[in-house]
Amino acid sequence: MTALLELKGLRAAYGRIEVLHGVDLVVPEGSVVALLGPNGGGKTTTLKVASGQMAATAGCVHLAGRHINGASPDALARLGVCTIPEGRGVFPNLTVKENLRMVTYAGASLAQVESRAYETFPRLGERRTQLAGTMSGGEQQMLAMARGLATDPKLLFLDELSMGLAPLIVEELYEIVAEIAKTGVSILVIEQFARTVLGVADYAAIMLHGKISAVGEPADIVDELEAAYMGA
Ligand code: ATP
Repeated sequence: MTALLELKGLRAAYGRIEVLHGVDLVVPEGSVVALLGPNGGGKTTTLKVASGQMAATAGCVHLAGRHINGASPDALARLGVCTIPEGRGVFPNLTVKENLRMVTYAGASLAQVESRAYETFPRLGERRTQLAGTMSGGEQQMLAMARGLATDPKLLFLDELSMGLAPLIVEELYEIVAEIAKTGVSILVIEQFARTVLGVADYAAIMLHGKISAVGEPADIVDELEAAYMGA
């Protein structure tokens, strides 16, 4: 299988403190990869480096075989990389429709963006005139994902999709993630706890102390995953 994203020996630091100590990770084209592990292991930092928000001190990031170290988030967006940050990043004082209008700069018309959004997330269609800030956390996450999809990404980074949400809604969101993956989008998702992600991930990697400590198909790393949390 071809690697869409490949991280090779990535190292990164905050000031003098190195927090990524040689991270190797592959996201094969068209697959969902879950990056899991307890607090402080370096998952968010890995995503920041991969998405161009932070520079690596060593190692490299390849996108479809192309070296992209140092590319800005904007340049990566043009190459089809989309990041849905922790905390979702929707505009609370704008309606659903206005939030979607903000992403039409990428080229698609509002009608196209809206129809894709409401097809994927019918609940957003029912709430198109509601202020985003008054929606539930799950609905805001849907809006964040709909905004991301409007840019027609090849690679989607999802940071802690489940943060602050009830298990049922997390399950619903992951079913949608699986649907999105079926359309050919490759997805790297970071989660601290959510077991639900294992149901949709093709591969899972465990991150501990700035390194990948195990990687495999979800069923093969369940024991390591439990040990990682017990150890933490
Ligand atoms: P979490 O799930 O809590 O976000 P994580 O696995 O994503 O954890 P990171 O957020 O990448 O881990 O953090 C890795 C290490 O880097 C931690 O020790 C953290 O304290 C440190 N760190 C993260 N952000 C900063 C920052 N802005 N300045 C200094 N140290 C940081």
